[in-house]
Amino acid sequence: MRHEQGASLDPVDWDEFRAQAHGMLDDMCDYLQQIRSRPVWQAAPEQVRRDFLRPLPARGRPLDEVHQQFMEQILPYTVGNPHPGFFGWVHGAGTPVGMLAEMLAAGLNVNLGGRDQVPLEVERQVIRWMADLCGFPAHASGVFVTGSSMANLLAVLVARHACLGDEVRQQGVRDRHALVAYAASSAHGCIAQAMEMSGLGRAQLRVIPVDRRHRMDLAALDAAVAADRAAGRRPFLVVATAGTVDVGAVDDLTAVADAAQRHRLWMHVDGAYGALAMLAPALRPLLKGLERADSLACDLHKWGQVPYDAGLLLVRDGAAHLATFSSAEQYLRRDSRGMAANSPWPCDLGPDLSRGFRALKAWFTLQVHGADQLGRSIDGSCQLARYLAGRILVQPELELLAPVTLNIVCFRHRDSGPEVDQLNAAIVADVQQSGLAAPSATTVNGQLAIRCAIVNHRTRQADIETLLRAVLDSGARLLRQRC
Ligand SMILES: *Cc1c(COP(=O)(O)O)cnc(C)c1O
Repeated sequence: MRHEQGASLDPVDWDEFRAQAHGMLDDMCDYLQQIRSRPVWQAAPEQVRRDFLRPLPARGRPLDEVHQQFMEQILPYTVGNPHPGFFGWVHGAGTPVGMLAEMLAAGLNVNLGGRDQVPLEVERQVIRWMADLCGFPAHASGVFVTGSSMANLLAVLVARHACLGDEVRQQGVRDRHALVAYAASSAHGCIAQAMEMSGLGRAQLRVIPVDRRHRMDLAALDAAVAADRAAGRRPFLVVATAGTVDVGAVDDLTAVADAAQRHRLWMHVDGAYGALAMLAPALRPLLKGLERADSLACDLHKWGQVPYDAGLLLVRDGAAHLATFSSAEQYLRRDSRGMAANSPWPCDLGPDLSRGFRALKAWFTLQVHGADQLGRSIDGSCQLARYLAGRILVQPELELLAPVTLNIVCFRHRDSGPEVDQLNAAIVADVQQSGLAAPSATTVNGQLAIRCAIVNHRTRQADIETLLRAVLDSGARLLRQRC
C-alpha cells in the first residue's frame, strides 16, 4: 500500500486501505473467537526478539507487510490474559466490543484534556455511573487515568492537599508537617510508592498487620494512630483495600470508616479490582462501607473487562479534588462560550493535559453489556474460585493457603521435605511453559503459593480442571524426578 509522497500520511488509494483494514479487523475477530485453541503463553524465539533490534527505518514499508509482522511476531507472544486459562495476575480479558470502541476512539483522536466537546460528557457520564454504583454523592468527581497505581497516587495528593491546604502547592511538604498514613500489610505496593512520589516519604506509611482473614487489624490501626499523635505527628490518611492483590481479601470498610471518623483521617479505598464487585448483588454486602470513603481507586480494565488501560479516581468532595490540581495557565483559559467553555475539564482533576478517550471503551462496554451481565461475569469468577477451592480441599496432594473471599485462590502442592517452596515455584513455571494454563506465584504467610486469580469472563469450569490437572501432573513429575 502506498501513501502520499507529500507531507500527508493518508493513503493514496482508500479502497485498498479499506480492504486492508477489514482484513486486520477479521484477523482480530479470529484471534478472539479462536483464543481457546492457542497456548495461553509461549516464550518468544530468539530470532523474533532479534527482529526488534532493527534500527528506525528511514523508508516506510507497506502496511500489509507490517501487519504480517504483527501477526507472526507480536500477536503470538503476549502474556495471554484474553485466554480463559490465564490466572496469573489480576488482569482483565478485554472484550470484542471494547476492541471496536478503541478503534472508534483512535479514529476520532480526540484529546480529552478539556474544551467544549461531547466526549467530555461521555467521561462524565461514566464517572457518574461509577460514583452512583459505589454510593458516592452527586457532588463527587472523578477522572480517568491509566490505572489504579496512578489513581492511588492522585488520591494521596488530594488527601495531602485536604490536610495541608494550598500551602502545600506553594511550598511543598515541610518536615514539620510529619504527615502519617496507614495501610495494611496486604496493601498494594503502589501505596508506598505514592507516599514516595508525593514527597511524604515511604517511612511515613505505617504498615498495619492483618488478621487471619487477611484484613486490616483495626486495633493495631488505633494503636498506631495514638502512638503517632502522642509523638506529635499528624495522622492524615488511611488506605483500605477492597480486593487485595495477593489473596483477594476485603478490609472491613465500615470499621475502617468508623476509625477514619474517630481519628479524623481521609479514608481512601484501593478498590482497583474489587470495587467492581458492586456490580454483583450477591457480593455487594462484602463492600459495605465503601460508600463512606473519601476517595476510591478503581480499574475498569480488570473485572470491568474494558481493554487496557482504564483506571479511575473518584473523590467524594469534588471541590477538594479540583482544588488539588486546577491551575490558571493562560493558554488553558476558560470562557462561557466557544470551545473554551464547559469547565471544569479533566485536566483540572489530575496532572494529565493531553488525554485519550479511555471513557469511550468503558461507555461502550457498560452500555452493550449492561451492569447485570458484567455483574454476572464477576459473580461467576467468584463461583469458579469457590469451585477451585472445593476441589483443592478434597485433593490430598494440594492444600489451600488462604481463605477465598472473592476470586483469588492461593494454594500449593504438598511436599514432605523442606523444598516445598522450590517445588511449587517449579510447578508454576512448568504449567506456564505448558501453555495449558497460567497461574502465578506469590508468598502467603511466608509460604510460596500458587496463585490463581480468576478474572476472565471466558473462564469456565473446564479451564479450572485443566489448571488442576496441569498442576498435579507437574507436581507428580517433579517429585518423581527428585527420587
Ligand atoms: C492492580 C492493582 C493495583 C494497580 O493498579 P494498576 O491498574 O495495575 O495500576 C493496585 N491495587 C490493587 C489492589 C490492584 O489489584
